Amino acid sequence: KNRAERLAFQGPAAFSDGEAVELLANVGSANEGAIALEQGAQGIGLFRTEFVFLDSDNAPSLEAQTKEYRALFSQFSGKKVVVRTLDAGADKPLPYLNPAIEPNPALGERGYRSLSKYPHISRTQLDAISAAARESNADVWVMAPMIADAREASQFYGEAKEAGLNVVGVMAEIPSVAIVADQVFSSCDFVSIGTNDLTQYLMAADRLLGGLGSYQSPWHPAVLRLVKMLGEAAERAGKPLGVCGEAAADPHLAPILIALGATSLSAAPTALPEVRWGLSQTTRSKAQQAAEAACEAMDANEARRTALTLL
Ligand code: PEP
Ligand code: MG
Repeated sequence: KNRAERLAFQGPAAFSDGEAVELLANVGSANEGAIALEQGAQGIGLFRTEFVFLDSDNAPSLEAQTKEYRALFSQFSGKKVVVRTLDAGADKPLPYLNPAIEPNPALGERGYRSLSKYPHISRTQLDAISAAARESNADVWVMAPMIADAREASQFYGEAKEAGLNVVGVMAEIPSVAIVADQVFSSCDFVSIGTNDLTQYLMAADRLLGGLGSYQSPWHPAVLRLVKMLGEAAERAGKPLGVCGEAAADPHLAPILIALGATSLSAAPTALPEVRWGLSQTTRSKAQQAAEAACEAMDANEARRTALTLL
């Protein structure tokens, strides 16, 4: 089928034999909620909250934040909304949170590690998410970006629970989290893989540079094997494992991520029809064979080429 037909695909999020897949959307503001619903999202798998913080010289008030979060939650009554706490630093620096000039900002104080240095900002955000959640009927989950180990996961879990949030998880985007995945799953309720940063840190390839090719592809067998490790840990723990990085928007990679153990996928709203098309072209068992072959490939290109012949 040509691209235009795939982009207009109206079928359900399911494999060709009918097995359903939970398919959510990534949004960066409350406005995008409507587009996500239009494109058939079952909920929100990644609500990036940076936009609330970007326009001012200091952190927004509890009231201002609650209003923004409520605007999204109110559109998702009875549906899941996974909110990510502020991910400042590196490509998204904030003057009041990331004052220092760092030689390698991607390896510096960013995400949870910068937020935890400012407990009042962190606490206000969690309180605002919690207040907005209580005022809506959405099933609100919260997660922290750039978690490195189970210590941080359990610290964040405690903070979010104290703010009254029910379901608390962390992102897997630093490879260390995949290596200690069992410990991390024991410390929180769910994990969501950010394949953009996970690939950058695993392959030592800056996501902002063009032209590093195979090093920047989530098809790399090293990335796929790490996803598999997380999938196996999720199954042992009996807890959900999402994928919310760009990899989930690739219609051929999407079924493979499910085969490797992801229990939900989340992608940009406009990518959702094509992801549903990709799922509809194969079965879990075919995707499992493709995943196994891709894990044995020697680089990203070979992994992709081999997988496509098996899907
Ligand atoms: C990721 O790193 O894959 C991710 C989803 O987060 P962001 O792209 O916002 O860094
Ligand atoms: Mg990230």
